[in-house]
Amino acid sequence: LDQSHIRNISIIAHIDHGKSTLSDRILELTKAVDPRLMREQYLDSMDIERERGITIKAQNASVEWRGYRINLIDTPGHVDFGYEVSRSLAACEGVILLVDASQGIEAQTLANCYLALEHDLEIVAALNKIDLPAAEPDLYASEIENVLGIDRTSILRISAKTGEGVAELLDAVVERVPQPAGDRNAPLQALIFDSLYDQYRGVVSSLRVVNGVIHSNDRVTFMQAQRTHEVEEIGARRPIMTPVTELGPGEVGYLIAGIKDVGEARSGETITHAYQPAATPLPGYEHPKPMVFCGLYPIDGDEYEELRDSLDKLMLNDASFTFEPETSAALGFGFRCGFLGLLHMEIVRERLEREFGLSLIATTPSVGYRVIDTKGELLEVANPSAMPAANLISEIAEPMLKVNIITPSTYIGTIMELAQSKRGELVKMDYLSPERVEINYRLPLAEIVIDFFDTLKSRTKGYASLDYESDGYQPASLTKLDILIAGEPVDAFSTIIHKDKAYDYGRRLVAKLRELIPRQSFDVPIQAAIGTKVIARETVKAYRKDVIAKCYGGDITRKRKLLEKQKEGKRRMKSVGRVEIPQEAFVSALSIG
Ligand code: GDP
Ligand code: MG
Repeated sequence: LDQSHIRNISIIAHIDHGKSTLSDRILELTKAVDPRLMREQYLDSMDIERERGITIKAQNASVEWRGYRINLIDTPGHVDFGYEVSRSLAACEGVILLVDASQGIEAQTLANCYLALEHDLEIVAALNKIDLPAAEPDLYASEIENVLGIDRTSILRISAKTGEGVAELLDAVVERVPQPAGDRNAPLQALIFDSLYDQYRGVVSSLRVVNGVIHSNDRVTFMQAQRTHEVEEIGARRPIMTPVTELGPGEVGYLIAGIKDVGEARSGETITHAYQPAATPLPGYEHPKPMVFCGLYPIDGDEYEELRDSLDKLMLNDASFTFEPETSAALGFGFRCGFLGLLHMEIVRERLEREFGLSLIATTPSVGYRVIDTKGELLEVANPSAMPAANLISEIAEPMLKVNIITPSTYIGTIMELAQSKRGELVKMDYLSPERVEINYRLPLAEIVIDFFDTLKSRTKGYASLDYESDGYQPASLTKLDILIAGEPVDAFSTIIHKDKAYDYGRRLVAKLRELIPRQSFDVPIQAAIGTKVIARETVKAYRKDVIAKCYGGDITRKRKLLEKQKEGKRRMKSVGRVEIPQEAFVSALSIG
């Protein structure tokens, strides 16, 4: 296909502004999907995505529009998945920036728009949802012009729901987004921007050809892995995988080369020809730094190797988490994993359980601290139980965030109060319009990870939006808090916390654990301690009699149900010393931050 007839674009927007719905309309309008097979959110192929109604993985689809080939990459909107957005953008020349015409610019609108500018991409802006009675396209067109410097007369007005204006939007893409650069006759350089593992076909990689041409029977070298493979199939996602004989400069497609070792086709990898290699690889991706850590342990210790294997495979599809082996006195062998945020952590855990059939326990999440010990040595501590004793520490510094909040001005007071309670420091405040304001805070990451986002949403009735980026480290008055169950410290519950909050947190955590830990045949004391000092204590009283005893004389089905229920509960329990702790206890411990 001639380069002048290719357009590579992403759709970027704040969450819920209509990216997936627009992708659906584009697939319909370009007749890429058989109408009988069309369903909502077509590109959100994972179960979790469809259930939660959010896009986690960027997906690509190749469609034809009036003689042009438009390669479309749908991107996730949640702040945890900014990394996916960034990788998608590296394969594009332009973006459609969607803004909800009843809401205007939100925090991720700004963040994603800045990313597009950083990548030097052409921005085609469109106001979506003009069918809504509450839509105010004129008002928000001026807002976009004032805040983002995009000429208001160039902004399209569409409804991704009804399809109004979508054809004009595609015309604008063809007209305004530049064709891909790249030299057909140069040695092959193709960028892998995503990979996943298919049980039957091995690794399937998404790639964008930058220079040269790749054919369906070439021998290709993966430049970083330094491995050579025979191409088994190349093709385009239209959006169904369709084999082709070649992909030239600017083209986006997939590659299958019988690769079984997931480590060989990581995203950011460059593919070239074995017989005429390119001199240098393309610039890869900078790996994102994990922000939140937790331990993942199999409930059944025998599943350890399986967990390792699954982490390897998942890593291929999501290069943004990290893992390394760790052991816990309470939980045995597992992995310390790093994530981009709490949602990311939840999703990875859920995918491991669903896609790989594992039962896991996640320990209390923690951020990564920088500790200077009394010998002046710097330690990175991502696991609270690895924190040195207080008398060996001269300073603990915690990671900070630059937080950007956009809100109706009526909520300024509410937000200030919330940020203050989270040890935030106001940096600046700008009015976008008389009614809406952008507020910048510097806040400790540890205070954000737990529930800041949800609290912000509920206190502003959903009107405030938030985005953040890392902003270095800052020394703080922090301490380690341990939990002892039946006298034994359970390292999985250890946490690092600000001294002013330790008592309150300790009290609430032991109270919560008392509710969650079922009665055993003996009294189980639960204690919170700082060093050797116990600051809170509760007891789970021993149960009196076998539960079944109650059922004698009762009917048999009730008894069976009870037994089954107990068995169900058992599967989700972890024995720690003599005490059985349900999986929920480990998870719920987070929600009390
Ligand atoms: P995404 O998070 O950006 O992918 O947003 P979605 O495509 O999932 O859309 C979020 C919600 O907005 C869904 O309930 C859509 O049905 C709705 N929506 C999207 N576009 C329109 C539109 O043009 N008009 C109306 N009324 N609703 C829309
Ligand atoms: Mg979506």
